[in-house]
Amino acid sequence: MQFHLNGFNPGDPRFSDPQDAVVPPPIKRPLPEKCDVMVVGCGPAGLNLAAQLSQFGEIHTCIAEVKDDRLLVGQADGIACRTVEMFQAYGFANQAIQEAYGVNEIGFWKPRPDTPEEIFRSDRIDDVEEDLSEMPHLILNQARVHDFFLEVMKKSPRKLEPFYSRRLIDVQVDHSEREHPVILKFERAVTHSQFSKQVEIVRCKYAVGCDGARSQVREAIGKELVGDTLNQAWGVMDVLLVTDFPDIRLKAVIQSANEGSMLIIPREGGYMVRLYIELDKLKENERVAKDQMSPEVLIAAANRIIKPYTIEVKEVPWWSVYEIGQRLATGFDDSDAEQEPRVFLAGDACHTHSPKAGQGMNTSLNDTWNLGWKLAHVLTGRARESLLRTYSEERLQVAQTLIDFDRDFSKMFSMKPKSKENPEGVDPEEFQKYFQLSGRFTAGVATQYQQSMITAANDFQDLAKGQIIGKRFHSAQVIRHADAKPFQLGHCITANGAWRIFAFAGKAKPMSSECGILKLVEFLSLSQQSPLNRFTPKDSEIDSVIDFRFVFQSPHRELERGTLHPLLSPKKGKYGLRDYEKVFCVDYRSGNIYEKRGINKDVGCLIIVRPDQYVSQVLPLAHFDLLTEFFEKILCPV
Ligand SMILES: Cc1cc2nc3c(=O)[nH]c(=O)nc-3n(C[C@H](O)[C@H](O)[C@H](O)COP(=O)(O)OP(=O)(O)OC[C@H]3O[C@@H](n4cnc5c(N)ncnc54)[C@H](O)[C@@H]3O)c2cc1C
Repeated sequence: MQFHLNGFNPGDPRFSDPQDAVVPPPIKRPLPEKCDVMVVGCGPAGLNLAAQLSQFGEIHTCIAEVKDDRLLVGQADGIACRTVEMFQAYGFANQAIQEAYGVNEIGFWKPRPDTPEEIFRSDRIDDVEEDLSEMPHLILNQARVHDFFLEVMKKSPRKLEPFYSRRLIDVQVDHSEREHPVILKFERAVTHSQFSKQVEIVRCKYAVGCDGARSQVREAIGKELVGDTLNQAWGVMDVLLVTDFPDIRLKAVIQSANEGSMLIIPREGGYMVRLYIELDKLKENERVAKDQMSPEVLIAAANRIIKPYTIEVKEVPWWSVYEIGQRLATGFDDSDAEQEPRVFLAGDACHTHSPKAGQGMNTSLNDTWNLGWKLAHVLTGRARESLLRTYSEERLQVAQTLIDFDRDFSKMFSMKPKSKENPEGVDPEEFQKYFQLSGRFTAGVATQYQQSMITAANDFQDLAKGQIIGKRFHSAQVIRHADAKPFQLGHCITANGAWRIFAFAGKAKPMSSECGILKLVEFLSLSQQSPLNRFTPKDSEIDSVIDFRFVFQSPHRELERGTLHPLLSPKKGKYGLRDYEKVFCVDYRSGNIYEKRGINKDVGCLIIVRPDQYVSQVLPLAHFDLLTEFFEKILCPV
């Protein structure tokens, strides 16, 4: 899609008249006195959590924001492949892909050896390694990402909309109160940003501080952001420009000899570009004086770095000086040895780092992607409260790894290129190699959760060598049996809070007496020990708590529907209509999923996947006892 040709306009670019893209803020209404979950902050972390919880009509979720309306422009823009996989679960990945800039290649620029004041392109590489994800790496305005989540919320069973103009001023937890122990105090704005003394109090079961780097919730629960005292400042500009720089529509990493580094990120719409210009390191507590900084100063710096090329900026839709240090909160929730958590922190409220690796929005989104289903499980009575402890255990480790990575990455980025005059500098080739090696990390697919109540030991990992326990389920193409549609298997995992069992058949003839899938479905449908029978409420759909999908090695035209066990097309809904989307076959044209993901062709296997798409367990098809045992540790029997 091409847009912003005659100037930047916020909102959905599909509207030809930008006025039509204006979304009025929700009608002003008082905050409720009570709710189940109170989310503070409408950034990516808060909106993702609200969107996930809004899928559960029985959970009363509220989300409040100090600003008086939704974000329209600016802030982060990098969307990792892993995050687009999550967008797919919500159903808006295609819209994001259509609208965004897709990062395909990166150009590296360094000082020309004979005339070091000029830069030249030293290399051009692929941005994402082959088959890392079925989803691309995207660049899209954070404001549009917010819009997608707001849409999901609005269309959900809960029809959720934010309460704007509410500033959180205090959070208390009264553990003597069992039902609604968390008490939040908000100030309400009377006019634009004029906050009155009108205070609203909300009692809830759980509160989540998604209120950014200066989090009030974090302060209220006595946690601190600790880490690097040296803030780095970045000049960030979204611009419409005219230039002779040849890689203006490629992501470009530029290291000049003496004028610093710059990152060029092409933006959605085909014309806009983001420039990240590194400014000097700041001393502790020193803030960049915005009045000394201006788009003109940043444009002049960009022109010095990019010599012999020039940029002529025609419009600056957004710019900012973004200061950041690598810091981690001393805890991600308020739990202690006796009390289960009631208040959580997510996103920038519990970790901050540089924008260089494009992880700000991604990590924040993935925090609440981890927390949302767990809260939903506990609030709907599917799981015990102890499940909630795994949020901090898992995400603290991810944030720590990110901060360690960011420290190295930033150091490398800020160093001058090695030369005769600067022998201590970084070798540009080494820098490029590091960039390439860190590709899996920046794509978001390196996260591996440690063994816990929801991540099993790797006793049977050999049965699916490419579906690593603790990492996200790595999708591959299969053929949906009923309608012969080529289909990414991972796209079965939608944001409905259900677990998945993917059963891969071995070499036995489908539905023969040796077929492992037949034995498995007989167990699942008939046994008292079947996790479907033990954990699915009687009035719920059979796949609402644990969804099940089957993959056969037979070419799809050779597998006859009439031979399949009835559980492979279960009856659902008020009419008892059959669900024909449970069975898949290998797509021999695009590549065999068994070979791509290291699945044992002889005996097959069973892969248990969490609602947030991470692999929890790999089991032999016939180990029914271990299957039941796994769910027994997490879910409450009905
Ligand atoms: C000005 C700015 C520029 C940025 N630029 C970049 C960039 O160029 N590249 C990049 O990668 N990342 C950038 N980031 C970081 C990136 O946007 C964040 O990492 C990401 O948004 C974190 O998401 P979050 O939901 O945790 O927090 P945020 O997006 O910060 O959202 C927190 C929300 O909570 C609200 N809030 C705060 N306090 C209260 C309160 N007391 N009561 C109610 N609501 C409250 C805030 O108004 C805000 O809407 C920028 C951030 C900011 C603030």
